[in-house]
Amino acid sequence: MPSLLSFTREELRDFLKNQGRPAYLGDQLCDWVYKKGVYDYAPMTNLSKAVREELPSLLPLSLPKVFRRQDAKDGTIKLLLEMEDGSKVETVLMRYDYGNAVCVSSEVGCSMGCAFCASGLLKKERGLTAAEMVGQVLSVQKILSETKERVSHVVIMGTGEPFDNYEEVMHFIRIINDPKCLEIGARHITVSTCGLIPQIERFGKEGLQVNLAISLHAATQEKRARLMPVAGFYPLDKLMPALKNYIEESGRRLTVEYILLKDVNDSLEDAKALADLLRGMLCYVNLIPFNPVCEKSFERSPQIRVRAFKDALLKRGINATVRKEFGTDIDAACGQLRAKENKK
Ligand code: SAH
Repeated sequence: MPSLLSFTREELRDFLKNQGRPAYLGDQLCDWVYKKGVYDYAPMTNLSKAVREELPSLLPLSLPKVFRRQDAKDGTIKLLLEMEDGSKVETVLMRYDYGNAVCVSSEVGCSMGCAFCASGLLKKERGLTAAEMVGQVLSVQKILSETKERVSHVVIMGTGEPFDNYEEVMHFIRIINDPKCLEIGARHITVSTCGLIPQIERFGKEGLQVNLAISLHAATQEKRARLMPVAGFYPLDKLMPALKNYIEESGRRLTVEYILLKDVNDSLEDAKALADLLRGMLCYVNLIPFNPVCEKSFERSPQIRVRAFKDALLKRGINATVRKEFGTDIDAACGQLRAKENKK
């Protein structure tokens, strides 16, 4: 039977109707789960006892188990969540001045094989379902509810390539965006991709106000292919037109992610090449300080280089910011906690 977390309100009403139950039960359930934060049928007192007893088998409702929890001094919380089949995924809460963002994983492991990333240390086992992604957000919401706070932003930037699990990710977005469910504004949701062109094209046609981020990390095909195997399939000269087309179709500003790796892609030459590549595009560059992964030999760019890189972009009219770092005292680098747990 499908999880309650796998439905938007409309879908839930339809499902219940088809099961011979009243559609309004769907409204009541959405209200309990998403507005009142109750993740168990027993306390849902406006439902009859008989209904409460049959619901668990008709429509299972449970959150993933919190297998590990790490709290950083800056308020970042990293969860290692265990799904029903035993798979473990990482979910992170990051606290910005403008709100609470949850970083959601889209797959168990990842097959993209980026040279600098810890997630890829464990190959993809499967995609996560929409319900499992909703479960990640609710697991964080549950913690925030203790202090009467709420999840305001969702970034699909955890382990996995979201566009490699396109349908479930889109369904997940519709559920959390639903005003009767979590009601996270589309503009507060960001999907990050390593550059799967067919899905970028499809995403542009969805008519959503959701943000797209592209993990670029290099401004030339040669350099990018060395860091990201996906560039071998979807080269830069095909990717850039697809991104421009996406911006045109969606009217949305694109986020360009660029990890700064010492002596690899952080020179002024690199900054100039990046500025040339992006000139005229509605986008801004998010410079990411590399989060060292012990299994990888890359090093972080010194701060002074990061500064110079950013200034070089700004000087050429390209908008750029340096990404704020979270949880540096815990295993906050992408995939680190999960990889470590797996080694044990
Ligand atoms: N597969 C998607 C989303 C997951 S990765 C993508 O590639 O965009 C999310 C972001 O974290 C990507 O920009 C990725 O390149 C970056 N990242 C991966 N490992 C990192 C590390 N060790 N330090 C900093 N950023 C990293």
